[in-house]
Amino acid sequence: MNVSVSANEPSAAIQFVTKVYSRLLLAGFALVPAYLIAYLYFFHDPSLKFENHAFHEIAIAAATLEGLFVTYVCWRCYRSSGEPLLRWLTLGFLGFSLIYALHGVFTGMAHHNIWLFLLYGPASRLAMSILIFIGQLSYSQRADSEARRADRRMWVTWVAVFLLIDVAVAWIAYSPVAGSLWVRLSMEGGALVFSTINVVALVLRRIRSPLMTIYGISVTSFALSSLAFILGKPWNHMWWLAHVIFASGFFLLSYGVVQAFRTTRSFSTIYSQEELLARLSEAMARTERALQELQRTNEKLEHMAATDPLTGVANRREFIERVGAEIARAKRNGAPFSLLALDLDHFKTINDTFGHQAGDQVLQRFVKKCLDAIRPYDGVARVGGEEFMVLLPQVALDKALSIGERLRAAIAGAPFDTGTGKPVEVTVSVGVSEFGRDGQTIDAILRKADERLYRAKDQGRNKVVAA
Ligand code: GH3
Ligand code: MG
Ligand code: MG
Repeated sequence: MNVSVSANEPSAAIQFVTKVYSRLLLAGFALVPAYLIAYLYFFHDPSLKFENHAFHEIAIAAATLEGLFVTYVCWRCYRSSGEPLLRWLTLGFLGFSLIYALHGVFTGMAHHNIWLFLLYGPASRLAMSILIFIGQLSYSQRADSEARRADRRMWVTWVAVFLLIDVAVAWIAYSPVAGSLWVRLSMEGGALVFSTINVVALVLRRIRSPLMTIYGISVTSFALSSLAFILGKPWNHMWWLAHVIFASGFFLLSYGVVQAFRTTRSFSTIYSQEELLARLSEAMARTERALQELQRTNEKLEHMAATDPLTGVANRREFIERVGAEIARAKRNGAPFSLLALDLDHFKTINDTFGHQAGDQVLQRFVKKCLDAIRPYDGVARVGGEEFMVLLPQVALDKALSIGERLRAAIAGAPFDTGTGKPVEVTVSVGVSEFGRDGQTIDAILRKADERLYRAKDQGRNKVVAA
């Protein structure tokens, strides 16, 4: 493929600026929740509330179901690629779902024990932020073994841990420390810290694959949602906004997981558009090269299948094809054509006297002399050991006879070098036939030329016979 670098290729400066611009845009998008938080924080009355338990319960139920679905899809990706990051992400989704569900379940308890209701939120976010942070640290680590991926005990253990956390949160909710702001703050603050260092580490490690970019924006949302939860109060608008920010991060991350599921089932080997394009053009160039190679090989094979390796002229098969084409043409335009059948005389004696190699040389020189004596478009072919044929297009029998005579005289006229220092006299017998006059098929005209060749032999060799 020709990937031409055209003259109006943008300069390096504009390439750089567009790259920086696209990074800034991503950062800008990731920080959209921050603008909303600032807006509410500076311009909104924090005492305004929207306390609607049913709405909250439905939202949390939906989030839990969504969480379990993403857990499943993520787990399928992990089973397939074995990426440790996906193992931790699966655990993050699972832990979040199992802890956060109780935040919805206990909505009705808001007035009975507000902490039983409230604490499951930060607890679920803290657990998730820790698990997916560990996941990021394991990014680009070797894939887990098949045995480890299939190990059920690990998952059962983790489910038990999450249920224990559920029990522990309930215990804290009923303990005297529950009311202290520090309990909630330490959980939510913990989630904020883990999500923040997760994003910072991602940037410092320069992990830029497309799915990890999605991952980074999602974790930024998690951090900002924790910030909004810290700034908000139960049921006020900052508190609701915090839910929305978290949900959007969650949806985005689940989008990344589904993308992985639908492609490579991996977070690290999904390619960016730039990489895909580069790989595509590389693959196309490779295919193009392979095709050219194949074409060259085919041409070589075709040539080999059509020529005689010793003398380089056409072989019998190729000759038959050419005669076939000539017959078709003769039938179309009525132009005559003729054949010469040639056989070297007493060639066996040359071999016996000078050796097989000298015989080969004589065959090569014979062909050369034939080619010199005929027109460029007359075809010489080696159809047997020391048997040759010449195709003479546009030539009738009497003219063919004189060409045959010229050939015979050229061969007999000068002795052949044998490479042994002793030249040898070589003669050839020739039979002539003409298409139409001697037959309408290949077989017929070949047979006729052969018959006349043998007549030439009978008549003492070194002869041309045309009748
Ligand atoms: P005639 O005049 O009756 O044609 O006699 P001849 O000796 O030419 O005919 P014959 O058919 O008896 O022998 C042909 C010889 O050609 C026998 C074989 O060893 C030789 N020959 C066939 N192919 C090759 C080859 O590729 N190289 C060499 N050096 N000899 C070959
Ligand atoms: Mg012979
Ligand atoms: Mg022979």
